[in-house]
Amino acid sequence: ILSYMFHKFQNTWNIYKKCFHGHMDRIKDLIRDVPDFPVKGIMFKDITPVLKDPKALGMIIDRFGRMYKGMDIDAIVGIESRGFIIGAPLALKLRLPFVPIRKVGKLPFDKIRINFKLEYGDATIEIHTDALEPGQRVIIVDDLLATGGTTAASIELVEKLGAEVVKCAFVIELGFLHGRDKLPNGKVDSLIT
Ligand code: AMP
Repeated sequence: ILSYMFHKFQNTWNIYKKCFHGHMDRIKDLIRDVPDFPVKGIMFKDITPVLKDPKALGMIIDRFGRMYKGMDIDAIVGIESRGFIIGAPLALKLRLPFVPIRKVGKLPFDKIRINFKLEYGDATIEIHTDALEPGQRVIIVDDLLATGGTTAASIELVEKLGAEVVKCAFVIELGFLHGRDKLPNGKVDSLIT
């Protein structure tokens, strides 16, 4: 009986694995590599073909939804701009509040900001002071993890409000940039590396 159950389990697991990789392959195939954008030497990962395919976008939201369901999360924090596109439908799916982190000068109400270094130059991002309560558990969402600078700064903003970052979720991770090393251990999830 045990051996039968084991094989049954293995079978189900293999089917599940095949489905999952099949799904991610579809998304991988849709991501468009645009060389030398926005500047020479950068290979830009263009997700607009994924957004044009409701099945593919749905798979991404479903996948994250299943990963984070029941994890006792209080809010989804999206990083401008493509973090909004993934973060807002995920928040809706999980029936959680959505909180935007925006580039400087966009948020209208009381806010805090942080300045951080990019590969070329600086950037400043902001969050509303009433966006999160102390002790709340959040997931930060963006489309892509590159050097990790933007997400590390976003974590600082969330923590300044007294909230806790439980996970950082990305559709794409550029592994060769080692952005993961700048982020808390074991808290980074990416669908495509
Ligand atoms: P980083 O702070 O270096 O991790 O950069 C992450 C931010 O820059 C994300 O919001 C990404 O959308 C964007 N980004 C960085 N590199 C790329 C790339 N090669 N293709 C598309 N977006 C990128």
